[in-house]
Amino acid sequence: MPEISVIIPIYNEEKNILLLYKRVSDVLQNLNVEYELVFVNDGSKDKSINIICSLAKSDLSVKYIDFSRNFGHQIAVTAGLDKCTGNFIVIIDADLQDPPELIIDLYAKAKQGFEVVYAKRKTRKGENVLKKLTAYVFYRLLAKITSCEIPVDTGDFRIMSRKVLDVLKNMPEQQKYLRGQIAWIGFNQTFVEYDRNERHSGKTGYTYRKMLKFAFDGITSFSNFPLKVASIAGFIVSGIAFIIMLYTLYSRFVSKDFVPGWTSLMLSVMFIGGIQLICMGIIGEYISRIANNVRNRPLYIINETNLNTIEVESPKV
Ligand code: UDP
Ligand code: MG
Repeated sequence: MPEISVIIPIYNEEKNILLLYKRVSDVLQNLNVEYELVFVNDGSKDKSINIICSLAKSDLSVKYIDFSRNFGHQIAVTAGLDKCTGNFIVIIDADLQDPPELIIDLYAKAKQGFEVVYAKRKTRKGENVLKKLTAYVFYRLLAKITSCEIPVDTGDFRIMSRKVLDVLKNMPEQQKYLRGQIAWIGFNQTFVEYDRNERHSGKTGYTYRKMLKFAFDGITSFSNFPLKVASIAGFIVSGIAFIIMLYTLYSRFVSKDFVPGWTSLMLSVMFIGGIQLICMGIIGEYISRIANNVRNRPLYIINETNLNTIEVESPKV
């Protein structure tokens, strides 16, 4: 059993894999421990899988899982977590934004007895203002509305013990928000700080669409606050509607000064209609996630792997 498994999700990273492989291998060899590198190819459209396969031929510590299509970053990491065998598990991005040399510090802290050591971004380079701003606001908003403490400015770059992984593997939800789930699990967790680098080569695989889905998954998995907002908004609107109702009755029967109120009618219908649609949308977001979990589909389909299991992994419910 290797001491350290490193999980590396890959989506169109052909220009980064070799350098990453070299830097990670150097670090782990210097640590002088048994290790395995688990590359998960998440339906890359470039030559990534060929590069990984040729690495696997020359280096026995290279394991790979090749997905049948793109399932997304969190699912790719989940597949790696399911199949890895190490005592300690590191999750790292393939684009060298997370410096592999930090694994030394992560491992040192883990050895001191921390079950999870996550890497916290002091600064982040090479990302546009919009991404930084949305990330900044999102993580703080999420921290406000959840009851479990999810650390801010932290990605999935971290080390965890087998003990935490065993718990994590028993959390069968389909919407993976791993950094939240791991925080939720608890035990003794700590962090080390680092400066996040620019992407070595290529461009980000996280489109705004994927980011939005990820954000919704984070919120709906860890908070019912949006549902509460929907009901609070409902109460407020009903309150206002009640006052307007009194006023219309008053003008109809007491002051008798009523005019065909097209404007106010339109405004209130639109307003209430808008609020209703928002509330239904919020409820819909939760229901679609419940539906996904009820369908209980496998999280991912493996095309090919050099790990000993080829069966399709389905979540235990
Ligand atoms: N990634 C993946 N599937 C995807 C998108 C990204 O496996 O659908 C991988 C990608 O190869 C990288 C990591 O997830 O190793 C982080 O993605 P990226 O660097 O594109 O995101 P960013 O750092 O811009 O948030
Ligand atoms: Mg990146």
